[in-house]
Amino acid sequence: MNSVVSEMFYYYEKYPPEILPKITVEPPGPKAREVIEKDHSLLMQSFVRWYPLVAKTGLGPVIEDVDGNLFIDMNAGIAVMGLGHNHPKVVEAIKRQSEKLLHYSLTDFYYEEAPQYLEELSRVIPIKGGRKFFLGNSGAEANEAALKIVRGVNEGRRPYIISFIGSFHGRTTGAMSLTASKPVHRKGFQPLLPAIIHVPYPYPYRCAFNVPPEDCGDAVIGFLEEWIFRRVVDPSEVAAVFAEPIQGEGGYVVPPDDFFPKLKSLLERNGILFVDDEVQAGMGRTGKWFAIEHWGVEPDLITMAKAVASGLPLGVVAGREDVMRLPPGSHASTFGGNPVALAAGRAVIEVMKEEKILDNASRVGEAILKRAREWMDTYDIVGDVRGKGLMIGVELVKNRSTKEYAKKELSEVLTKSYKRGIAVIGAGFSTIRIAPPLVISEELAMKAMDVIEGALKDVSHGL
Ligand code: PLP
Repeated sequence: MNSVVSEMFYYYEKYPPEILPKITVEPPGPKAREVIEKDHSLLMQSFVRWYPLVAKTGLGPVIEDVDGNLFIDMNAGIAVMGLGHNHPKVVEAIKRQSEKLLHYSLTDFYYEEAPQYLEELSRVIPIKGGRKFFLGNSGAEANEAALKIVRGVNEGRRPYIISFIGSFHGRTTGAMSLTASKPVHRKGFQPLLPAIIHVPYPYPYRCAFNVPPEDCGDAVIGFLEEWIFRRVVDPSEVAAVFAEPIQGEGGYVVPPDDFFPKLKSLLERNGILFVDDEVQAGMGRTGKWFAIEHWGVEPDLITMAKAVASGLPLGVVAGREDVMRLPPGSHASTFGGNPVALAAGRAVIEVMKEEKILDNASRVGEAILKRAREWMDTYDIVGDVRGKGLMIGVELVKNRSTKEYAKKELSEVLTKSYKRGIAVIGAGFSTIRIAPPLVISEELAMKAMDVIEGALKDVSHGL
């Protein structure tokens, strides 16, 4: 193992692969149950936990629960822990910065950590020419800011926004108005923002239009032109299209290769901005800094959060300088661009470059994809396998012809995997969401795939 590789697998010393996963107390153990009982009595249960995993500590792609069980983390804290849990260089940067300056709001003052971070981020952003940034704390907040930016730059002359069915952009009111992945997110909260139009996303396996999978992108573009721009709204009134380059929450859906280039060209012809929501797919997850780079398309705005600071809250909007021009006083965030989060963000970029993390994400991602594709030959329940880098979806169906969602089976696969030491969750209605930290080794990833396959096999056989 050369030094670069060994540095990437910094967790091997504490957690050598041969001991992983390790279940010593059937989860949830007694300590976990205690925490869960208190959690239920105190927290509004407005979220859904897939299974009762109570995390105590983590290192790299390993999570130790409060009862001492060791899990391989195949969800990376919902795609946040790109560099793995408690990466030593990120922790060191946080320690150093927290002794220097914890907070001094960018809304009213200046500090050097902001330009220092943004100079680094600028070097990896796929937008050419002059760029400007806005700093917030989360994905939803980044999308809220983007909404105001694209409407503001048009001074209200283009009130409409288009987003995609199946998309997830966050749960604050503006971001939720863009979101359309599950009715429960929106149920009971109307009225949401007006002038937002949802159109089908090119979901090749379940295309909303009656066309072969590879033509689904064209069908969506045609729908926009023929049915939306000709009959619903004049394109001159549309400020922007928001899209995830690969849908995350909606089911890890990869569009056909020609979709984004054609979408961008349609938008350019109509003066409509393209907002690329890279909150989940960005920061190396797909083996590129930003997933949209797979198709060589340049967004006007990019929103990001999750993995940018590998564990600390940081949301960013990056955009063309001529678009990023909300007037003074019109937008800000007290905690946005917190200096400790920015120090962590800088460490993330440094480590990703130094340790060639993108290469690892591509390489291990290919190995996982290959393995999951083999499952299609063995288990009828596996309907579709898709993904890029370490953003991989395995869609389960009750029947390959009807494609009925295998929702119960998904839940059983996830629960069995958890009981056997793998923390993996779902996306969409019946898709296994494989999104480990980008520093996972192939050896460890294959161990996790062995366990997931075991669960899949049992569920396929009705066990
Ligand atoms: N956009 C995408 C693509 C997401 O996946 C998410 C969260 O899952 C968000 C936005 C919202 O981010 P946050 O939960 O940080 O507000």
